[in-house]
Amino acid sequence: MTDKIALIEAGGTKFIVGVGDASRKIYARTRIDTTRPEETLSAAVDWLRARGADYAAVGIASFGPLDLDRASPQWGHITRTTKPHWSDADIAGPFTRAFGCPVAIDTDVNGAALAEWKWGAGQGTNSTLYLTVGTGVGGGAVVGGRLVHGLSHPEMGHIRMPRHPADMDFAGHCPFHGDCLEGLAAGPAIIARWGASLSDLPADHIGHEIVAWYLAQAAQTFQAILEPARIVLGGGVLGTPGLLDRVRAEAAKSAAGYFAGSPQHNIVAPALGEDTGLLGALALTGA
Ligand code: ZN
Repeated sequence: MTDKIALIEAGGTKFIVGVGDASRKIYARTRIDTTRPEETLSAAVDWLRARGADYAAVGIASFGPLDLDRASPQWGHITRTTKPHWSDADIAGPFTRAFGCPVAIDTDVNGAALAEWKWGAGQGTNSTLYLTVGTGVGGGAVVGGRLVHGLSHPEMGHIRMPRHPADMDFAGHCPFHGDCLEGLAAGPAIIARWGASLSDLPADHIGHEIVAWYLAQAAQTFQAILEPARIVLGGGVLGTPGLLDRVRAEAAKSAAGYFAGSPQHNIVAPALGEDTGLLGALALTGA
């Protein structure tokens, strides 16, 4: 009986594929460029097969949106995406057919939320919300040990936002909604306004205040809906020095002491580092 688990972090620019086990050891990993589905997925299957075909489970933490309805013939497929060639791509199918073992799939951000709750910044709590702010904004939440799903996975990056008074002229960068959270606070929205990433703008640039303000308003929205014990803020934009502290301070001001969770305490950085993607895939398998 094997205890090897195949792990796939399926991203829009690269796939990271690994072999691990339930103790969170990762024995081997590789990087495969995301080109066309048939090419990228068969390269991932071939690499895993070269390390033995006897997997106990496959975990896939994928970019989305995904069809996660087990009763749907499209389960495990990407649905609509602006990424060329990937709309309707069957992500789970090639692994199911190749290895004949249980395949778990969810979004990369849901995987990260589950992994941070199990082993990272949310460990020991009953509820953790994970928000990643990078080229897009995505969020997942664990409540009572389970990921929150409705008809599909949450789309927390697309909540409507109040506008910062000094940011009224920017139309927003989301192709679907303009000035949703992603359209205002993701990396491309920052570059569209100020011509540089947040970490490259001077420390006194108003961009820092504006982005922190949006993330604080978003944190308050999620706090009001779920009262999560932790809100974990990750992603490239949060690598900006001082940003997390600004978000905490702004959220505390905005919340005015109303909620069960105090922003100074419950808005935190991720704890799992660069393996979050593969650990997310592992967490999705139930390991
Ligand atoms: Zn949007």
